[in-house]
Amino acid sequence: MVQLIDSYNRPINYLRISITDRCNLRCMYCMPKDGVSLLGHDDILRYEEIVRVAHVAVTTGISKIRITGGEPLVRKGIVDFVAALADIDGIQDLSMTTNGILLHADAVALRRAGLKRLNISLDSLNPEKYTMITRGGDINQVFAGIDKAQEAGFSPIKINVVAIRGTNDDEILSFARLSMDREVHIRFIEYMPVGMENGWKKERFISCTEIQNRIEELGHLSALPSDNGSGPAQMYKIKGAKGRIGFISSLSNHFCSTCNRLRLTPDGKLRTCLFSDAETDLKAFLRQGCSDAELEHIITDAILTKPQKHHATEPVFKKCVRGMSAIGG
Ligand code: SAM
Ligand code: SF4
Repeated sequence: MVQLIDSYNRPINYLRISITDRCNLRCMYCMPKDGVSLLGHDDILRYEEIVRVAHVAVTTGISKIRITGGEPLVRKGIVDFVAALADIDGIQDLSMTTNGILLHADAVALRRAGLKRLNISLDSLNPEKYTMITRGGDINQVFAGIDKAQEAGFSPIKINVVAIRGTNDDEILSFARLSMDREVHIRFIEYMPVGMENGWKKERFISCTEIQNRIEELGHLSALPSDNGSGPAQMYKIKGAKGRIGFISSLSNHFCSTCNRLRLTPDGKLRTCLFSDAETDLKAFLRQGCSDAELEHIITDAILTKPQKHHATEPVFKKCVRGMSAIGG
């Protein structure tokens, strides 16, 4: 296997695959309240097509895959799809990001199918506030999903928290405390201006530095070395805690110089940067009957166009058109 290096000397080994733009929630920072106009059945890549892209991507150096969405667990046949990806030689890490609502039913089968790691999004520990942020979600389903996932052997569970000033920043310490007695990783993510209607405003943004300073009230945070699964998160631990705390500072301290990611959208577009709408239409090539060698070439060319850095914090930046639910975060 070759390891493709992009034009800025970054090895590209991580593919995030959004398998659906559909979701059973409507988080206020991700989707408009009436949802987004959904892709038609034929517009979505079939599982066989995604598996083929994954096979070819491995030949360019991809070794880590994350399944995301929309909500990946709403797509039928997900367990067999996970098994097909897990079966690909060269995939060393297979993970999923989910809102956890349907996880209770699927956790054991996903584990058996070969899923290695799970990230679960949970932006409030308060049932009413959770329902408000997700516009209808039931937090008890998420807790049931987390318990089942732990029983199924997923460890550690990572909890993603998008911090929003005036919405859930009053819960930063409660989330941090969870890491004291549970073996969970709490990962605070900066609120990002992705999608036209996700409510992002400067006043609602809260930086990881500010979150970290607030958590220091509970005890000193010692920095931990990054491991294979921590990605761009800077990981810390409060003294004596069973779990960890991570910070993903996509805006305040971007990690573009070490970005190793590609993203595949549900309609088969390959994106080389979360914040750029520049895309390569793999679906068109797949459906015109391209060979694996041609596909490899197309993926390689796309990798070489990966921008050096995002421009999301610059005054000229226009929010990208595609919403987070159609990119996969
Ligand atoms: N539905 C799944 C979930 O919520 O975990 C997977 C898809 S969701 C788009 C992937 C991740 O993106 C989630 O952790 C979510 O919180 C995060 N996300 C969505 N919109 C965001 C935004 N505007 N800023 C930061 N993170 C965001
Ligand atoms: Fe759905 Fe995830 Fe977006 Fe929430 S963050 S609306 S759960 S895709």
